[in-house]
Amino acid sequence: MERINERVVKLNDADERQGADYVLYWMQMYKRADHNHALNFAIEKANDLGLPLLVYEGLKFYYPWASDRLHTFILEGVEEKRDAFKDRGISYVFYLQKDDDSPKQTVKAVSEKAALVVTDDYPCFIIPEHNRAICEKSEVAVYAVDSNGIIPMSKFEKENYAAYTIRPKINKILDEYFVTFEEIEIGNKDAGIDADCPDTDCSADKIEHLVSECDIDHSVPASLIYKGGTENARERLRKFVEEILPTYDKTRNKCEIDGSSRLSSYLHFGFLSSIEAALAAREADAPEDAKDEFLEELIVRRELSFNFTKFNDKYDSLESLPDWARETMREHADDEREYTYTAKELENAETHDDLWNAAQREIVETGEMHNYVRMLWGKNVIAWTKTYEEAFDTLVHLNNKYGLDGRDPNSYAGILWCFGKHDRPWFERDVFGKMRYMTSNSTGKKFGSKQYIEWTKSLKDDPSLPATYEE
Ligand SMILES: Cc1cc2nc3c(=O)[nH]c(=O)nc-3n(C[C@H](O)[C@H](O)[C@H](O)COP(=O)(O)OP(=O)(O)OC[C@H]3O[C@@H](n4cnc5c(N)ncnc54)[C@H](O)[C@@H]3O)c2cc1C
Repeated sequence: MERINERVVKLNDADERQGADYVLYWMQMYKRADHNHALNFAIEKANDLGLPLLVYEGLKFYYPWASDRLHTFILEGVEEKRDAFKDRGISYVFYLQKDDDSPKQTVKAVSEKAALVVTDDYPCFIIPEHNRAICEKSEVAVYAVDSNGIIPMSKFEKENYAAYTIRPKINKILDEYFVTFEEIEIGNKDAGIDADCPDTDCSADKIEHLVSECDIDHSVPASLIYKGGTENARERLRKFVEEILPTYDKTRNKCEIDGSSRLSSYLHFGFLSSIEAALAAREADAPEDAKDEFLEELIVRRELSFNFTKFNDKYDSLESLPDWARETMREHADDEREYTYTAKELENAETHDDLWNAAQREIVETGEMHNYVRMLWGKNVIAWTKTYEEAFDTLVHLNNKYGLDGRDPNSYAGILWCFGKHDRPWFERDVFGKMRYMTSNSTGKKFGSKQYIEWTKSLKDDPSLPATYEE
């Protein structure tokens, strides 16, 4: 692996192909036609070689937790990208692989006429394995580009212990990166490339049928609240900066109202870049305190998660926890649990705790769970399962199955936070040991929990967000 610059690594030793037809950008996680460093790098390469650019995006049927919900959200962003790329003079192909009988090895096929391959350098879930596999299959140079956050992940040499250790490092260099994104135009605007790969028409009226034909989990339906794509992401961003950001510091923990950005699913699928969201917030007409709190979450907390999954290859296990947390778990492993629930009872929101059940209902019905109850949700599963490992596996499964924003560095860091990651030891108690403790009783008193519970009960008949804050 050779580092080309702070955002780009060359993953293999292969050369660029002479006499190729195009440069290939294999889009995996940054599902957007602008504000994308991987796209920019691919355009630069194409311009150097005088070639046109082909953007290839595929969706397979067998990735973990593939469901109607995740598929629909992704497909909702396809046709607008086709239009945006057409306007930019770039070819775009989207291939939906429906089942085992559908054509396979399509990335390899489209790479065969390419001078080189550019792809996304995303540090978790299935992407690192995809990138290893394409290097084995492809005969040309493969570059991975980091367009995950505002600061390139390579600016940090190792895993940071917590927010307080990464924050000063981020703040020291933030000005250099917190700037308008510069788009690069393609020189060779031959957008009519005939790729050796099927191209799926994902027009709005076709999505439901396409999804029903895929060999995926049909028990998790599409979200009726969150719709995929960059246009929907921008619409939500606009509402957030105009109507919610001015009071974000007061409303972000109020689960019963629409008081946070609800951008996590758009950020996860890369429909929206964090630089675009951060710039919109910085330029908004809102108090500095509110902006600072939002930017702390969007930049410091989010980039801490990316730092964690990039540098800790045990990010998907309790082994990535700090020593004090692992030790306290060893000491309290045999503590008696007052209540225990099976994974199915938890999934069905069948516990004695109304607030916990409401949080579980929120993620099942909408595809997201509010941050404030998400912490409590995770803590209570630790209290109600027989082992810490079972708690972790259950949380990862439920979060990643139902959350549109799941399978993200924030998913692993958020769940592990409940076990002490990025936190400090607290007073010792049963089951939790030195891990921070939260109860539904005290958490529920800090916001309108009764209204929140009622809202989650109404979601089946009236799938809509709660009202925004009114003074
Ligand atoms: C058990 C548990 C599981 C979690 N799972 C996920 C997940 O699957 N995906 C996910 O994106 N986040 C996850 N989080 C972090 C956080 O709950 C969500 O990012 C937040 O609820 C998203 O809502 P929002 O977009 O309205 O956030 P806002 O408050 O508007 O914040 C803006 C953005 O900042 C980032 N952010 C906010 N809070 C955090 C945080 N604590 N850590 C890291 N980044 C943050 C997110 O990208 C978010 O969209 C989890 C937290 C916990 C405790």
